[in-house]
Amino acid sequence: MTILIGLASPPGAGCEKVGQAVIIATINTTMCMKFSRRLSTRADEVTYDRAMDSRIEPSQLSGLAPDTISISKVNLSLGTGAARVHILKDISLRVASGEALGLIGPSGSGKSTLLMVMAGLERPDSGEVVVNGTPFNALDEDALARFRGRQVGIVFQSFHLIPTMTALENVAVPLELAGTADAAKRAAQELASVGLGDRLHHYPSQLSGGEQQRVALARALAPDPAILVADEPTGNLDETTGKQIIDLIFGKHAERGMTLVLVTHDHSLAERCDRVVRLRSGRIDSSSERKAVS
Ligand code: ADP
Ligand code: MG
Repeated sequence: MTILIGLASPPGAGCEKVGQAVIIATINTTMCMKFSRRLSTRADEVTYDRAMDSRIEPSQLSGLAPDTISISKVNLSLGTGAARVHILKDISLRVASGEALGLIGPSGSGKSTLLMVMAGLERPDSGEVVVNGTPFNALDEDALARFRGRQVGIVFQSFHLIPTMTALENVAVPLELAGTADAAKRAAQELASVGLGDRLHHYPSQLSGGEQQRVALARALAPDPAILVADEPTGNLDETTGKQIIDLIFGKHAERGMTLVLVTHDHSLAERCDRVVRLRSGRIDSSSERKAVS
């Protein structure tokens, strides 16, 4: 059976691309328009040009260590006419490999937009974004989508699971479409690792908010990304459940050594990160020293 996926994103600043991103974050743009829901989809049925990825040139920026996020003089405006807003203003920021960065700032200061830029879901008007040595400017949309699928896991405040798919399918389908062997098995392992081994065949509507966020986390982690970005991942959860999710995220960060960028309005959560960067009106207002690694 072939299905078309249409996702509505919630109204609000910075959210327009989020629904789309749920699919696009993990798979090829063209493929996301129409694909088989069968878990038996074979990897060789999927159009995926691995050779193309190896042709990506390393960054021309000098002195850049690999395995970092490097953002250089990024400007981004969104909207049209009188509603056009200059959101990110000359932002430069580097995140070291394995670092946990907390991103805080008032509502509307550009946190979500900056996260979307780091994840390659928004392209800046000017400036350069380099992730793991790969300059996003050099990638077309499909190559960028493939890059994201392998390197960047994304968790949103409002989960963004596909309601017609079970927990297992939500995690497995992006893996399948990226050509991962044993996608269903891998998805089941990832769900078990977030404590949902007994919820594989539940639909999102049959899961609590905390469980849905665990599925979303499993989906983000399943490709073993180098970078995990999380945009207010506890924003829709009660305090206790939110703490469990945050503990899980920091636990995964410690276990896998991936780079973590966590947007939060909760200062105590941000303080758990190695470094805290505060945004104000689209600019970096302050940045704490990176904590010494113990
Ligand atoms: P934060 O996550 O810090 O609350 P956002 O990155 O969501 O902030 O938004 C920053 C600013 O950009 C806000 O003033 C918001 O209204 C504006 N903005 C976000 N998305 C759009 C858009 N698509 N068109 C116009 N303005 C937008
Ligand atoms: Mg936001």
